[in-house]
Amino acid sequence: MSDSTFLVATMPGDGIGKDIIKSATSIVDLSSEIVGGYKCNWQMIKAGAEYFALNGIDVEPGGEDKADKADSIFLGAIGLPTIRHKDGTEICPHLRFREIFGLYAGVRPVKAYPNITNRLSNNLASKIDLVILRESTEGLFYSAAVHNRCPVDNDNEVQDIMRITRKTTEKLHDFAFKLARQRKSKGKIGKVTCVDKANVFRSQAFFRKIFDERKVNFHDINSDHCYVDAMALNLIRNPWEYDILVMENMFGDILSDLGGGLVGGMGMASCAEIGDNHGLFQPAHGSAPDIMGQDKANPLATILSAALMLDYLSEKNKCPSAAKGAKLIETAIEVGFEQNKIRPMEFGGDMGTEAVSNELMLLLKDKLVQNKVL
Ligand code: ATP
Repeated sequence: MSDSTFLVATMPGDGIGKDIIKSATSIVDLSSEIVGGYKCNWQMIKAGAEYFALNGIDVEPGGEDKADKADSIFLGAIGLPTIRHKDGTEICPHLRFREIFGLYAGVRPVKAYPNITNRLSNNLASKIDLVILRESTEGLFYSAAVHNRCPVDNDNEVQDIMRITRKTTEKLHDFAFKLARQRKSKGKIGKVTCVDKANVFRSQAFFRKIFDERKVNFHDINSDHCYVDAMALNLIRNPWEYDILVMENMFGDILSDLGGGLVGGMGMASCAEIGDNHGLFQPAHGSAPDIMGQDKANPLATILSAALMLDYLSEKNKCPSAAKGAKLIETAIEVGFEQNKIRPMEFGGDMGTEAVSNELMLLLKDKLVQNKVL
């Protein structure tokens, strides 16, 4: 049978985005050489703040159309604090992509790996394995999206709207329960927690009401609610007790950085943004201009995002070998930390972007790793 070839619209973007995207594409290419049965065709597209500063537009002409037609979209990191629109906001074409491609489900895994020093000291912290499911097209980010930018009134007052719609929220909660079911089948907790502020905001009470309506269709999955402020506390006190946390956009934005911190840093924070017909994959961190171009960035969040992409492509195209490739990459990272072969500078180690990528290449070729998956 011939290999499945996936067209991936790829935007390295700004800052460390350029440093880390090459690591991820090389690792995926190696995984497909080893596993066989799939290949990614990386279609490079120029986009981001630097491109905007030079050309006055944030994506190359025709770039969005290419992204629309591709099998998936893959981003490095976009935006630089020194390049902004007149109203002070940064250049964020990826927010527009969420909007136009309807990428409502922002999947952000928070998983502990062995031997990472700067995380919670409780022994149970090694068991952290949860997912922040961030609604990504409405909520408080609705105002930031393309069509609804609210000007400051007379330099005196401004409002941002929290938008919650039944259509998107039903899809989001269903996605959460299905994901919990999938994870339960792999031996994980299999529970969904609705994180909201239903005691104060009508929009949030509505979000919770729809959660309660949808949960009756998933009797096999446990569920509960937690106010977002209490969840900030619980994520420090007992994060190992949670599985899927579903929430509106801004809460998810904030808690996913907290989640990154729980397991060591943003360099481990992967992300999939899924809609009905499109999937976009990128690390949850920004362009980290403080370390760009210095070979210091941890490429693992981007590489783990590429593994999420292989899982997505596998399911979408009925190509089981791509899911094997994803598993191979995840296992190599797990074993690399276990054996202390992966030591990113981000966690006080001695390995920069290139050294981490080179070591991971060796791990992918390691028979011990391959035997666990293939
Ligand atoms: P954004 O708002 O676009 O998400 P941000 O302002 O939250 O961006 P980041 O760019 O994510 O900021 O960086 C936050 C901190 O985390 C910085 O100190 C940065 O150096 C560090 N950081 C982010 N990503 C990585 C990485 N891959 N490797 C090492 N350090 C990182």
